[in-house]
Amino acid sequence: MNYEKIILKSGRERSLLNRHPWVFSGGVKQMPKAPNGSIVEVRTNADELLGYGFFAPNSQIMCRLFEFTSEPIEINANYWKNKITRAFEYRKQFINNDQTNIYRLIHAEGDFFPGIIIDIYNQAAVCQILVKGVELISQYVFEALNSLGFNHIYLKTKQSTQLLENVTDGNRWVNDAILPMPINAKEYNIQFNIDVEKGQKTGFFIDQRENRRMLGELSMGKTVLNTFSYSGGFSLSALKYGATWVDSVDSSKEAIELANQNVVLNGFLNHEGIAADCFEYLKQCQKTYDIIVLDPPAFAKHSRAVANASRGYQSLNKLGIEKVKPGGLIFTFSCSQHIDKDLFRKIVFSAAAECKRNVRIVRQLSQPDDHPINIYHPEGEYLKGLLLHVE
Ligand code: SAH
Repeated sequence: MNYEKIILKSGRERSLLNRHPWVFSGGVKQMPKAPNGSIVEVRTNADELLGYGFFAPNSQIMCRLFEFTSEPIEINANYWKNKITRAFEYRKQFINNDQTNIYRLIHAEGDFFPGIIIDIYNQAAVCQILVKGVELISQYVFEALNSLGFNHIYLKTKQSTQLLENVTDGNRWVNDAILPMPINAKEYNIQFNIDVEKGQKTGFFIDQRENRRMLGELSMGKTVLNTFSYSGGFSLSALKYGATWVDSVDSSKEAIELANQNVVLNGFLNHEGIAADCFEYLKQCQKTYDIIVLDPPAFAKHSRAVANASRGYQSLNKLGIEKVKPGGLIFTFSCSQHIDKDLFRKIVFSAAAECKRNVRIVRQLSQPDDHPINIYHPEGEYLKGLLLHVE
C-alpha cells in the first residue's frame, strides 16, 4: 500500500530518531496531500523512512507515530490486532484477574498507540479516542477487542476532542452491544459500581490502584480523610483494611452518591460522604485525622497555568499538613502533566515549611504498571505523589 509522506526539515529528525512519537508542525518541510486522520509515512529531509503515524494537519502535533521502522510495512487489521494483543499480554503479567478486573489496556503513547486509551471494566472495554486517525481505524480496534473476549465496547469522546480533532463518533455502545449501567467490577477484591456512560473520565480513576492499596495497608485502626474522593476508591481501600472512620469529601454530589453506594456495596458502615469544596472543608473542619489523602484534579491543564496551579497545590498541601495528627500520614498527588516531580516536591516543601512541622518523605508515588511510560516520551509520566510523615 502507498502512503502519503511528511518530509521533515533538515535536522528536525533528531527527536524521532530517538523514537519520540510527535512531529511538530514547525519541523515539517513538506505536507502530504492527505485528509485529517490519514496514515502517513514520516521521512527525513534525505527521504529516509522513520516510521508511520496519524496525520493531523490542523494540530500543532501534526503527526503522532505509532510505528518506527526504516523498512516499509503494511498496516492492516492484523497490525492493530497484534498491537492490542501485545498490550493485553503485557497486562497479564501485572494484573491478577481474580482480584482485579479494572485496568487500562491501552495507555496511548505508553503502548506505542498514540491517540487512544482503552479501559477495561470487567466485561466492558471503554475506548476514548483522541485523534481522527484512530477513529478511521476504529473498526480494527473493535475487532481486536472482540477477539480478546471484550464484546461490550463503549466509545466515549470528550467534547474538546470533537472540536479540536474533528472526532465525530462517540458516546455509544459499538454494534448496540449495550450493557446496563452500572457495571460491577473489582479492584483488589473491592467491589465498585461503575457508570461508564455518565461517570467522570471513562468511569473510574484507575491510575490510583496501587496507591489506594498502599493507603489501605497503612489504615488499620486509623481515621482517614479522603479529599477529592470521587467514587470513594481510597476510602474503600482504607475501610477494607480496618480504618476506624473515613470521611470522603468531593464537590460533586453525584460523586459522593457513588462513594456512598460503593461503601454500602462492600458492607461498611463507618463512613461519611460530604459534598463540599475541599479547600473550604479543610479550612473549617474542627477534626484532625491520622491519614489524609489529597488527590485533586489537574490544576494545570496547560503550561500557561503552571504558576496558578502551583499556588493551588501549595495552599491545599498546607491545609492538609495542618489538619493531620502528630505522627500522621499524607498521601498527596498531582496529575498535572505540566508539573513535574521536582516542581511538585518544591511546592510541597514550601507548604510544609509554612506549617513549621517536621515533615518527612516516606515514599515517592507514581502511576501503576498498566499506565506505562514510554521511555522516549517522558510526557507520559503524569501522576506523581508523595507519602509524607508529619510530626
Ligand atoms: N481520588 C479519586 C479521584 C479524584 S478526581 C479516586 O481515587 O477515584 C478529582 C475529583 O475532585 C473529582 O471527583 C471532582 O468532582 C473533585 N473536585 C474538583 N474540584 C473540587 C473541589 N474544589 N473540592 C472538592 N472536590 C473537587
